Amino acid sequence: MKKILTIAIAVMTMSACTTRENPFLTEWNTPYDIPPFDEIEVDDYIPAIKEGIAQQQKEIDAITSNPEAATFENTIAPYEESGEILSKVAGVLYNITETDRTAELDSVMELAIPLMTEHSDNIAFNKALYERVAAIWNGDQSNLTREQQMVLKKHFESFERSGIGLPEDKQARLREINTEMATKTQKIGNNILSESNAFKEKFGISVSDYPNAMTTTEDRDLRRQMFEAYTTRGHNGNEFDNRQLILDVMGLRIEKAQIMGYNNPAEFILEPKMAHDPETVDTFLDGIMTAAVKRAKEEVYDMQKVMDEDIAAGKLPAGSKIEPWDWWYYAEKVRKLKYDLDEDLIKPYFKLENVVDGIFIAAKTLYGVNMEKLEGVPSYNKEKVTTYKVTDEKGELLGIFTTDYLPRESKRGGAWMNNIREQKVDAKGNMIRPIIVNVGNLEEYLNVDEVQTVFHEFGHALHGLLTQCHYPSVSGTNVTRDFVEMFSQFNENWAFQPELLAQYAKNDKGEVIPQELVDKINNSLKFNQGFMTTELCAASILDMKWHELESVEGLDIDAFEKKVCDEMGLISEIVPRYRTTYFNHIFSSGYSAGYYGYLWSEVLDKDAFSIFEASGNVWNLELAKKFKQTFLERGGSEEPMTLYKEFAGREPDSNAFLEGRGLK
Ligand SMILES: [Zn+2]
Repeated sequence: MKKILTIAIAVMTMSACTTRENPFLTEWNTPYDIPPFDEIEVDDYIPAIKEGIAQQQKEIDAITSNPEAATFENTIAPYEESGEILSKVAGVLYNITETDRTAELDSVMELAIPLMTEHSDNIAFNKALYERVAAIWNGDQSNLTREQQMVLKKHFESFERSGIGLPEDKQARLREINTEMATKTQKIGNNILSESNAFKEKFGISVSDYPNAMTTTEDRDLRRQMFEAYTTRGHNGNEFDNRQLILDVMGLRIEKAQIMGYNNPAEFILEPKMAHDPETVDTFLDGIMTAAVKRAKEEVYDMQKVMDEDIAAGKLPAGSKIEPWDWWYYAEKVRKLKYDLDEDLIKPYFKLENVVDGIFIAAKTLYGVNMEKLEGVPSYNKEKVTTYKVTDEKGELLGIFTTDYLPRESKRGGAWMNNIREQKVDAKGNMIRPIIVNVGNLEEYLNVDEVQTVFHEFGHALHGLLTQCHYPSVSGTNVTRDFVEMFSQFNENWAFQPELLAQYAKNDKGEVIPQELVDKINNSLKFNQGFMTTELCAASILDMKWHELESVEGLDIDAFEKKVCDEMGLISEIVPRYRTTYFNHIFSSGYSAGYYGYLWSEVLDKDAFSIFEASGNVWNLELAKKFKQTFLERGGSEEPMTLYKEFAGREPDSNAFLEGRGLK
């Protein structure tokens, strides 16, 4: 507590010394209202957050003190509009702490998180506001548009789920839980980053390059060392150990769910999702796991044959068996044998900037989207970031798109899409277009997986850019977690289409990738899917089992994880894609009881894509237009299943998913 106070005083003193205006509190006279990144200083965040909190509180007070009966227009609409300053700060701050983290920013976050959590709790427990929302919810909704009904539903459910109907002592406890959870989950994420940096220091490769390194490292003992270091992150008994923090967070999540009247966090979290309940998710994952492990065992058999040749050649001791640290290495050997596919031959055709051309060409062909590079606009990292103006076929502005693909130590691992500004129509009727970022950790030339990643994140970006909603809380990617990955994964389907490859997959001499290599890529896409599906499904089940716990008393993380893996039928050659102590998604980034969403969404995306294939033309513009108008423009303004049935004319079918992964 003392440390936080000292920083608070330091920040206040520094901002008091200067007469310059805080950029978050002024009009932005920048092109497209892009945040004036150059003018923002680290000391601007906390004063702006405080000002932003005061502003939104005032706006909410104005709503609740209105003597007229509650209507959508006098309650929900101004509530959606409120908190302008906070949105500006959050858009910038949350982006930059993930991409250009510094010790100063860590200190800012340490102060910001409790402030923001307290504020959002103040809203969540605002009885007067809740009563107005409930009155509209319980009243006649027939005069509302469908989007307005969905916005209303979202706010009503969010109030109910915050615990506002509970007695005051329980509400007070929930608030304590929320504050403590926010700080602890942030700490878990920071520990994972620190441990990942330690991994890089030790082996000279970043964690996002781990699969590559495991594929190409011949020295088996070095592979074992890398595997052990990678899979014990957050589990080393040092200052970055996450075990106690995870038990604390799970204890708090369980307590919260039980206060809310549920048995466990999974029941509580899943209720508003497309899948709705843990049983549905468990059954869904069990079915996939069975098919995936069966296929993975066949893959082990193929790899063992190659290993046996190494044994016969005297490279390995007799009796050597495939271990988890052998998988990537021998999988690549089998791939070369079976598909004659050598990643080193492919990479020269997938230069990062050419792949970016590829995603843009596909989007232009399918959805009429134009990308124009912008020079001299504000940017949060001038050396590493490129910004584009995005317009539709009529030249109307769709939004601003920024790419930040190159790795640096201050950046979190992995790849993601982020929204710096949400799309909306403001109170004066002005259309506000979004600012979207795609972030990655990529080198100059990409392998097949990385090409898919670039298409994946751009799929999220298109969902964010093409949106034509009215209210920010349902626009763009503001849909349920188990629906949102449909659009990113859907976009991956175009990455290796021959017509597109001919336009973007060129080597430095300008030669297009030969058809022979294209065939090999497409044939090999089903390769190793037993492994890929098993590790993904295993992580999803591990996530569910954590969140189906009803107590963590006396729980040992290692024993629990082992029991879960045994029960799901995981084979010893594979570990879950993320083990507990570095499972950032579920302990620090909002995917708790939600990691299954990747597989769930994939059923939808593969099924939707199969409709394009069935038409005989994956570039069917009629269907692309329908896809854009049904899904991409409508965000969360309608129930996911309703949208899906509108597009497909039926419920989703998992056949295309199983076939796509070579599991059928
Ligand atoms: Zn995604």
